[in-house]
Amino acid sequence: MISRKSIDEVIERARIEEVVQDFVNLKRRGGNLIGLCPFHHEKTPSFSVSPTRNIYKCFGCGKGGDSVKFVMEHESYDFPEAIRYLAGKYGIQLEETKQDAESILAERERETIYKVLEFAWQFFKKQLFQTEEGQLAGLHYFKERGFRTKTIENFGLGYASQSADSLISEALKAGFTKDILQRAGLMTQNEGDFFRHRVIFPIFNISGKVIAFAGRQLLANKRSPKYINSPETEIYQKRKVLYGLFHAKKAIRDENNCFLVEGYTDVISLHQAGIENVVASSGTSLTPDQIRLVRRYASQITVLYDSDVAGVKAAMRGLDLILEENMDVRIVLLPEGEDPDSFVQKSGMAGFNEYIKQNSKDFILFKTSLLLKEAGNDPMQRAVVLKDVVETLAHITESIKRSAFITQCSHLLKMDENIIISATNKAIDEFLRQKRQGIPRDISQSESEIQKQIFDREAKNIDANIIDYKALIDEYQERDIIRILLNYGDKNIPDSTVNPLSRYILVSLLDIMDEIQHPVYKKILTEYQSLLEKDQLPRPEYFTNHPNREIQVLAIELLSFPYEYASWEEHDIPMQIQLHPDDNFKKDAHNAILRLKLKIIMDHIEKNQARLAELQAEGNDEEMIIHIRVHYDLLQMREQITSQFKNVVLKV
Ligand SMILES: [Zn+2]
Repeated sequence: MISRKSIDEVIERARIEEVVQDFVNLKRRGGNLIGLCPFHHEKTPSFSVSPTRNIYKCFGCGKGGDSVKFVMEHESYDFPEAIRYLAGKYGIQLEETKQDAESILAERERETIYKVLEFAWQFFKKQLFQTEEGQLAGLHYFKERGFRTKTIENFGLGYASQSADSLISEALKAGFTKDILQRAGLMTQNEGDFFRHRVIFPIFNISGKVIAFAGRQLLANKRSPKYINSPETEIYQKRKVLYGLFHAKKAIRDENNCFLVEGYTDVISLHQAGIENVVASSGTSLTPDQIRLVRRYASQITVLYDSDVAGVKAAMRGLDLILEENMDVRIVLLPEGEDPDSFVQKSGMAGFNEYIKQNSKDFILFKTSLLLKEAGNDPMQRAVVLKDVVETLAHITESIKRSAFITQCSHLLKMDENIIISATNKAIDEFLRQKRQGIPRDISQSESEIQKQIFDREAKNIDANIIDYKALIDEYQERDIIRILLNYGDKNIPDSTVNPLSRYILVSLLDIMDEIQHPVYKKILTEYQSLLEKDQLPRPEYFTNHPNREIQVLAIELLSFPYEYASWEEHDIPMQIQLHPDDNFKKDAHNAILRLKLKIIMDHIEKNQARLAELQAEGNDEEMIIHIRVHYDLLQMREQITSQFKNVVLKV
């Protein structure tokens, strides 16, 4: 294992602009450097590198991080691999701590699993091309399907013979153990070959290593399935893999579109025909992990279906997830009786592309028309359609896009737009509530989205769920304080007795610390507090390199937008920016704390009033008097705070 000291040395030495420049052309703009984002397709640069903060951030796709994160993302390295890469670049000698026997073993075994899979792959290929059985059965099958030799080699196809244990016995001879063979998914419980009498499709990870196989049977046999996949192993998780992605990734990026098909042979046939931006989810319905894999390369997914309506309806269910990742989804129904494989073989690349161009439809509109056709004029059925469509609309994360689709769907459904808007907003509320149960996957995205939704709703003048609405705003007030703390916490306030700014913030928050809602914000505040108590003053890098992933992501996000201001104008609390934000941190901190305190008091007032109403209903006069006193105390506190917002009229 690499020692902590060495890791710190690497992180300290690595300059983000130098690391990125090895992969991306950067131009200087002000204090930052900008370039075309390597993680999503774009024509105008939105990828920004900040040498002073030592981080990168893409304003297009939202990716961001430090040097280590960049190398991990760009090269698909894990953390130690990224550290080793950077150490190499900067000529740093890594100090390895003595690993405990267990972890050495685990690491070696993982490597051995890759090795035995590589061994099996070479074996299957040899079986296909160099044995009579392989040529007669396997190669013959592939040729019948129209695969050319070059294609077969390119996708590394192979053959597993009828013999019960030919691979196992070869592998044992080569020195692999039964344990490893089993853990690689190559051996059955009876110690025989897992794949027998099947043609073999190796499954690659994104960097081109074989991680599993799929085998298709050659003789129709009802007792065994047509396709079988390697069982899940330490290195193969079905839900995280898309078949063909390794071969397709460059084309997907170039086309900014990824075709999604069902079968291995569909991928290979399309590829052979010159359509290379194609992957298969191989039998499983599309998972969020798979969608995010594609999103690294393109913003659009086009799903190809054969024309069986029942199948299409079932398959469409997973597609809402793609919308949630802010990607465009298009649907193409192939002509009756065709699958992508048969269709491209008949029509060729030009015919295929022309057909796609003519027949590709937006997913949401396609779904709406399809459901409507089925519902006919039955009003009950039409209500079900509305519910279904609204669920989908709620998954669109961009409000402008969503509004456009709402308008179009209202035409299709022949329903008033406002009905759809309010139904969609209800679905979003529900959806957000569910999401808020857990920590958002990507804090930046989900929060900026929440903000958009609030404004969207206000613009549409829809009566939103009040309580949820307030909870959302609350998070912004807390977030604003964290933003100021991370950006300016180490600065001193001129003419102040409490310094640095972080101490001023934490002291001011003392009385309301328990009311901080957000778990990550709370963690940052407590950690900052205990560092200050030890007389340590963390620099911004302390949090952008933080071992807690949630804290790290949040810190990177907040430090990338040093001049971001929550739009308080929208909430009747204007910001007053006269100075450059870098010089205005004290006032910003002061106001942010006041706003949070105000919010907390407003919550207490609301709760107290609800309690008062209850007591009145119960006729409990004694208790009521106490709560009326509390009410006036709270009003007074509110007055104190609002008077500190100078020249601000509060509509509360
Ligand atoms: Zn990007």
